[in-house]
Amino acid sequence: MQPSDKALVPFVSVDNMMQLVHHIGVERVITEIAAQIESDFKRWESFDKTPRIPAHSPHGVIELMPTSDGEAYGFKYVNGHPKNTSEGLQTVTAFGLLADVYTGYPTLLTEMTILTALRTAATSALVGSYLAPKGATTMAMIGNGAQSEFQCLAFKAMCGIDTVRLYDIDANATAKCAANLQGKGLTVVPCKTAEEAIEGAQIITTCTADKKYATILTDNMVGPGVHINAIGGDCPGKTELHSDILLRSEIFVEYPEQTRIEGEIQALDDDHPVTEMWQVMTGQAKGRTDDRQITLFDSVGFAIEDFSALRYIKTAIEGTEFFEPLDMLADPDDPRDLYGMLMRAK
Ligand code: NAD
Repeated sequence: MQPSDKALVPFVSVDNMMQLVHHIGVERVITEIAAQIESDFKRWESFDKTPRIPAHSPHGVIELMPTSDGEAYGFKYVNGHPKNTSEGLQTVTAFGLLADVYTGYPTLLTEMTILTALRTAATSALVGSYLAPKGATTMAMIGNGAQSEFQCLAFKAMCGIDTVRLYDIDANATAKCAANLQGKGLTVVPCKTAEEAIEGAQIITTCTADKKYATILTDNMVGPGVHINAIGGDCPGKTELHSDILLRSEIFVEYPEQTRIEGEIQALDDDHPVTEMWQVMTGQAKGRTDDRQITLFDSVGFAIEDFSALRYIKTAIEGTEFFEPLDMLADPDDPRDLYGMLMRAK
């Protein structure tokens, strides 16, 4: 029996995601996802919001990230296992689903490992476009793993960065990142220490992975006027910045209820003031107010960003061959005759 079209769910495999991104162009995809995120952040109040649901283990974390705007529902399954790279596996992998709230039927199933890197970079650069000092040209990129090239290209495309200064405790990671960024219109400077990487940088991105309270930046390394894009501290017990930096910074977050559990600010009192990025985007709160201010985006990754990315992909694949129809919903001719359908399939 052939399922009807309404029961077939478009599935975007890793291979199709890669072809789609090549078809559109990496920087254009990042910029377009950022536009979708910005428009969804501007209607923040129309979303169901909840901190993501984690399952922690000594090995890492597995999380579900759901949200809905009342018309569509989306969730992402994502893991975070810093020890994985030593076993030849990714630290972060993900897949996600979009569904129609009216019928409850899924409307898209997709890989989200690549999509997460794209949406994280899109979110970082979108926030950077609001908070980074005007005329910024140089970014320090500390942690040169899977996310790093996406971050560099996003800041080039959206914030006018022309130079990236790379540092990783693993020199092979820096060499990989530098090689991947060749010919992409960026001046790439591999560095031997984090201190060297931040020299002359107006934007500092930290994107390391370690399941501990790490100190990637100490207080004396951060001068006035910089924007810090802190990506890697995104779990209880997993942070990147010395708390003195937080006390000198204006802190911007996605969703405080989640960031206070997972972000850099887990080191601060629960009532330490933070500004929500959606309010900056809607003009209800101020972003950077002077040239000497240190702005800190305490990024953990929020479900609405994945929802935006899922909706972007759903539209982007329409009329293309970059997906397969997946027979994942039972579709009996008589909706109540599920058993009959099973028996007739014998
Ligand atoms: P990855 O494992 O591929 O890369 C991490 C890199 O950090 C590695 O190359 C490692 O050598 C380096 N590193 C570890 N400790 C370091 C240190 N002290 N100094 C310099 N470099 C160091 O991981 P990834 O996929 O690139 O992700 C990086 C981090 O970002 C992870 O912690 C992940 O959980 C987080 N992340 C956050 C978001 C978000 O939305 N905020 C999204 C995706 C990933």
